[in-house]
Amino acid sequence: MNATAANVLPVVGLEIHVELATQTKMFCRCRNRFGDPPNTNVCPVCIGMPGVLPVMNRKAVDLAMKVGLALNCTVPPLTKWDRKSYYYPDLPKNYQISQYDLPLTVNGYLEIPLAEGAAKSKKVRIRRAHLEEDAGKSIHDHPHHTSVDLNRAGVPLLEIVSEPDMNTMEEVMAYARSMQRLVRWLGASEANMQMGHMRFEPNINLHITAQDGRTVQTPIVEVKNLNSFRAMERTVAYEIQRQLEAWRADPDGYTMDKLGKQNRGFDDARGVTVFQREKEEAHDYRYFPEPDLVPVEVDQAWQAATRATIGELPLARRARYMAEYGLTFKEADALTQDAPTGELLDSAVAAGAEARRCVNLLLSRGAALANERDCTIAEVGITVEALAELAKMLSDGRINATAAAKVFDLTVQTHQSPSAIAQEQGLLTVRDTSAIEQWVEAAIATNPQAVADVKEGGKKQKKAFGFLMGQVMQMSGGAAAPADVQRLLQQKLGG
Ligand code: ZN
Ligand code: MN
Repeated sequence: MNATAANVLPVVGLEIHVELATQTKMFCRCRNRFGDPPNTNVCPVCIGMPGVLPVMNRKAVDLAMKVGLALNCTVPPLTKWDRKSYYYPDLPKNYQISQYDLPLTVNGYLEIPLAEGAAKSKKVRIRRAHLEEDAGKSIHDHPHHTSVDLNRAGVPLLEIVSEPDMNTMEEVMAYARSMQRLVRWLGASEANMQMGHMRFEPNINLHITAQDGRTVQTPIVEVKNLNSFRAMERTVAYEIQRQLEAWRADPDGYTMDKLGKQNRGFDDARGVTVFQREKEEAHDYRYFPEPDLVPVEVDQAWQAATRATIGELPLARRARYMAEYGLTFKEADALTQDAPTGELLDSAVAAGAEARRCVNLLLSRGAALANERDCTIAEVGITVEALAELAKMLSDGRINATAAAKVFDLTVQTHQSPSAIAQEQGLLTVRDTSAIEQWVEAAIATNPQAVADVKEGGKKQKKAFGFLMGQVMQMSGGAAAPADVQRLLQQKLGG
């Protein structure tokens, strides 16, 4: 085949492993918690002693089903557990309890937002989302030996497998970020990348149309266990480039038909992927039904009860904010990164505050504090009552935007009410026209050039008027009501 490509289409599917935020592990009562001293949350079941019996954690099934339903998946009436056999030092049982041919949820999709502003999105199909247990962790921090920590062994793990529906880096990253937002939104996982709550395994290949019109696929490469967005972005970018070069060097040999699937690992220090092995097929794992666990029947009542816990999902809420509150895409998107921030906004509006005022407060000081503290806007700690009160004070002209920003910070710090703070700090708007009149006269007296520019009209008028307004606001310590200043200034200069 001619090694000149007329068209190269990257094709990416993603497997995502998500640790579920349950109190206890998947098949025993050990605590599911990150960061405890090694091997303290273990028992005979999760360290694989012979003769013990696993017991299913129903809460984990609830959470997994909730995610599956939110991903528009079908929940078949019967699901079962299977043993997936492999040996690894952090898997003392020599098998992982997983789900093979009857997964908990199947055939859904996740709608992902695509940048370019407004309502553009794409549906990435979900093949299946099934439950399994996590393995322990090998710790390579000693020069002469490797330690094993089994606290993680048996933690409930949801494996979400997409179809290979992503064709650009933008889509891959949007899918991964949307999935993180969704599982957090649903309370299914903290999805903290540093704590390994979420790991990515992309499948990548290229569909190449050569100039002679023939098409060919490069081998599908699966890259294992990426634990940051950055690592995934670098991996996918590297693979697209590497596969194209490999095909150009050997257009007849470097193909899916000849080489099949391959596993590669990402070398973070060098920023490259490294060949590991031909990819395992299902038969390599000797899957067979787990004899110690009964299949799970999911009746309609269970499914309906789980569905009822889902509530409004991020994209639906974003669309509602644009329609109902008149927000821009960017504003609505920023307020729907997590569930509690939107709930704060909705509750303040329900308490009678103007949506626009609340949004401005949340996206100015709220977002700034969140950014400083590396948390969500809701986690900054403004209460519904304080937000609603401050928004109403702005609407009534009792406070101006500059003062409101100060009050916002202080109410978060002290938990005092905005009106008490504004009173105490002298931040309430001055509606005393005689005081404002004096400032206006002083501004006019000390700025003859600006006054002349305003009176003359023309190009400089608007800027000069703004300058005089600013002078008055400054003299008032930011406390004058801008509408009053404007009115009085117009009167004096016009008259
Ligand atoms: Zn245990
Ligand atoms: Mn898995």
